[in-house]
Amino acid sequence: MAKPIKVVIAGCTGRMGHALLECVFADADLALHGAVDRASNPQIGRDAGELFGKNAGVKISASMDDALKGADVLVDFTRPEASMQYLAACEKANVKMVIGTTGFSAEEKALITKTAEKISVVFAPNMSVGVTLLINLVEQAAKVLAQGYDIEVVEMHHRHKVDAPSGTALRLGEAAAKGIGKSLDECAVYAREGVTGEREAGTIGFATMRGGDVVGDHTVVLAGVGERVELTHKASSRATFALGALRAAKFLVDKKTGLFDMQDVLGFK
Ligand code: NAD
Repeated sequence: MAKPIKVVIAGCTGRMGHALLECVFADADLALHGAVDRASNPQIGRDAGELFGKNAGVKISASMDDALKGADVLVDFTRPEASMQYLAACEKANVKMVIGTTGFSAEEKALITKTAEKISVVFAPNMSVGVTLLINLVEQAAKVLAQGYDIEVVEMHHRHKVDAPSGTALRLGEAAAKGIGKSLDECAVYAREGVTGEREAGTIGFATMRGGDVVGDHTVVLAGVGERVELTHKASSRATFALGALRAAKFLVDKKTGLFDMQDVLGFK
């Protein structure tokens, strides 16, 4: 049997961090090598398996440099400012990286692309297999319905989410824009309030809802005259993202450099 892949988890005490730990513990092809969170986190120094009633033999640490020593891949679901520091640490340690964090600026995304010339990176705002399929379906639908249909992206997430629209909604918007032969920047409408005037043809509108414990709902509406098509994905558990991220970690094993997304991981490209 091949040796298990040595995985470090960043943001290990967060919502996604917990889902990732649980999935790593359940997968014999993966071994938890490091668990990192910010220095102010009260769980620093505790065993990463404690919450799951087991001794993982890995202490939660604030030092990414230490955690990356001898590791194969870092899986990061934190905040952009942390992810950018961790990206630099991965480059220095020559460790592969799966980035699930959302909310990056254009400059930060450019730096991720540049760093992927040195190490291999999977970067995707939504690691679920279902959403990856939805992205393909949306591009296809937008291409077929490019004339006479208005495209809107609607999303809902739990009350703790800090960025809007969600990274997934933006990715779906990009797929729709590609389908109608545009870039999202030239046709996105992110907010409407007051007397907005009639809807401009060829734009892609976004609507955001926040509340409760919704893990992640996305619908792309293509509304024409006399009919509308709605393509929807609903995530019911964070395990879907964690399992996708760990599938991405396995995909990276034989990749030395390059920037990949979930379309690559699932072989859609
Ligand atoms: P969370 O707030 O529950 O967890 C964030 C973790 O990051 C915490 O452990 C926190 O201590 C740590 N952190 C925050 N700022 C930090 C810093 N400056 N330095 C070091 N550590 C820091 O959030 P979550 O719900 O787990 O989501 C985390 C990220 O993952 C968000 O950007 C979210 O949008 C994204 N997300 C992506 C997917 C996907 O499939 N790609 C799915 C779910 C969530």
